[in-house]
Amino acid sequence: MNPQVTRNGRPRILTGDTPTGALHLGHWVGSVKRRVELQSTHECYFLVANMHAFTTRVDLSAEIRRDSIEIVRDYLAMGIDPKQSAIFLQSEVPAIAELTFLFAMLLPFNRVMRNPTLKDEIKIKNLGETYSFGFPLYAVGQTADILAFRPSGVPVGEDQVPHLEMTREVARRFNQIFCKVSEHAEDSDHEKLGGTFPIPHADVGAVGRLVGIDGINKMSKSLGNAIFIADTPKEVQKKVGKIFTGRQSPTEPGDITNALFQYVDAFILDPPRVAELKDRYSRGDNIGDGHIKQEVAEALNKMLEPMRERRRQFEGDDRAIIDILKDGCIRANQVAEETLAMVKDATKLAYFPRRLTIG
Ligand code: ATP
Ligand code: MG
Repeated sequence: MNPQVTRNGRPRILTGDTPTGALHLGHWVGSVKRRVELQSTHECYFLVANMHAFTTRVDLSAEIRRDSIEIVRDYLAMGIDPKQSAIFLQSEVPAIAELTFLFAMLLPFNRVMRNPTLKDEIKIKNLGETYSFGFPLYAVGQTADILAFRPSGVPVGEDQVPHLEMTREVARRFNQIFCKVSEHAEDSDHEKLGGTFPIPHADVGAVGRLVGIDGINKMSKSLGNAIFIADTPKEVQKKVGKIFTGRQSPTEPGDITNALFQYVDAFILDPPRVAELKDRYSRGDNIGDGHIKQEVAEALNKMLEPMRERRRQFEGDDRAIIDILKDGCIRANQVAEETLAMVKDATKLAYFPRRLTIG
């Protein structure tokens, strides 16, 4: 872990999600579980990337607003505590937009377009040639989301690692150009040598890429292949029943690296049982996919039940959610404005102080 610590002595982390739909099991194993673990030892900032949702849903602002609120409900359901962690809206932290503009100058255009996650998204989400200018800009914006908080780590799924790499490049370049940090400096020394930014690392969760129920693509809220945190027990059972393996019979030796077994590994929290299932499945010892799916669905519903229970407390009460976001925005702006002031100092853009007010 990067030695960077905050005033309260805790290392800081930042991460977030785009409100393109509700949160699913991929979010849990890839990132949110890790956030819940870190919130008692770290200063945590969790961003709802509502501006980024406009990059693919510009005509759906009402849905973006609804999903922004639902994502917060999902966070609360999964165990994020708004007293410990700041949950905030990207659109209400103006320093992020200002830093995006500046950081866009630090990244060659072709470097942004080479980003493999962007290329994958253009393909998987069928964006063709008609995506907005704002779409690739979101990758630059994400470097600003992160660096506005000068975090030591960023808990994310595997698909975000290329974005983190770009963020690290921006941080290094900024420190080299504006803070005279040597290009030979170790990443861990940048702040010590006067750099504004630490070089943050990706903290990938236990399962970096949970496959969707189609058995092919990453589970994704935009692709119709997700099991959502808010799904009912019946929906979970039905969706698990659809996980595609291609296996024909219970006596056919099965492939324990298939999609179904990724779920067995991730969610059946009984190692001897997992070992037994793998042994019998790989030998084709009269064990059908249907049986394994039943056990996976039971394990999932057991895990999701307390989350459903917590969620019920916030059902129908948008005001309570908006208050949580407001409190989070106030806390987030304190750090982001401080970062922006440091950036303005370093870039000779500081002319006079400014104060931001919320509420
Ligand atoms: P979209 O389809 O709109 O891109 P998404 O489902 O990919 O949505 P994001 O908001 O892009 O969700 O991702 C939020 C965080 O959750 C990121 O850290 C991402 O890596 C992680 N994540 C999303 N899906 C998965 C998955 N299937 N497995 C592991 N981590 C995931
Ligand atoms: Mg995504």
